[in-house]
Amino acid sequence: MAFEGLGERLQATMDRIKSKGKVSEADVKVMMREVRLALLEADVNFKVVKQFIGQVRERALGSDVMQSLTPGQQVIKIVKEELTELMGGENQKINLAQKPPTVIMMVGLQGAGKTTTAGKLALHLRKNHNKKPLLVAGDIYRPAAIDQLETVGKQIDIPVFNLGDQVKPQEIATKALEHAKEEHHDTVIIDTAGRLHIDEDLMNELKDIKEIASPDEIMLVVDSMTGQDAVNVAESFNNLLDITGVTLTKLDGDTRGGAALSIRSVTEKPIKFVGVSEKMDGLESFHPDRMAQRILG
Ligand code: GDP
Repeated sequence: MAFEGLGERLQATMDRIKSKGKVSEADVKVMMREVRLALLEADVNFKVVKQFIGQVRERALGSDVMQSLTPGQQVIKIVKEELTELMGGENQKINLAQKPPTVIMMVGLQGAGKTTTAGKLALHLRKNHNKKPLLVAGDIYRPAAIDQLETVGKQIDIPVFNLGDQVKPQEIATKALEHAKEEHHDTVIIDTAGRLHIDEDLMNELKDIKEIASPDEIMLVVDSMTGQDAVNVAESFNNLLDITGVTLTKLDGDTRGGAALSIRSVTEKPIKFVGVSEKMDGLESFHPDRMAQRILG
């Protein structure tokens, strides 16, 4: 299960400090060392770890904590609060346009879960926001990507705009928006091409589509299993496209948690959703406080 190692280590550290009647400065220092190691082992970005530890230490060593009746518990509370803050504090909802249609552009590396998440989001928006989405097949390079989106669309009964793989994605985006207007779709979800690595051609194409479609949401999809790589990918996409949100997929796997804990801090963009299964209903809104609770037990 995700975060298993990190959770176990942090919980053991917390239990030790909780059981102490009096907590000394040295106890806090030992504890912070253990938390630091646990985070690094979970593949959390080292700069993020440093900042996090600094903040917790400063608050924990404050006189109001050290002189309280339950310093151990106060310190644990601080760790939980700071962990929540690190992941963005409050749940951030998907951006919806004041005036329809809402345009959502899905971006990410190949295999991250873009096509799957496009379908999941369409379902989420129909179910929870009463929207009438149109899925747009814009990944013309990966063999079978278009068929995959068609299959997803059929599964959840949401139409797919598909011009095949011989039309440029820029033109697909333009025509899809016209089509959405004619057919009264209030939400347009554009699946774009992923590559194995970030390259200039891909980024230029994505910039073009952004320009054409003026998306309300540029949703980066990253695979939580890839740890530090996910964070680097997020940073690159954000620098080039100024993304508006992140979906972290495959949280049902045994990810160590590094990506979930670092992305917000590194990119300053919120994780809005997490993917928790391959199925179409396997998408959950991301709540930093619940995630912190889950990690700390
Ligand atoms: P794309 O290349 O980015 O469009 O990636 P796909 O949508 O094709 O997904 C790649 C693989 O990851 C597929 O086998 C998906 O079923 C799987 N996948 C996507 N999201 C999740 C998730 O949240 N959990 C699990 N377990 N698998 C996922």
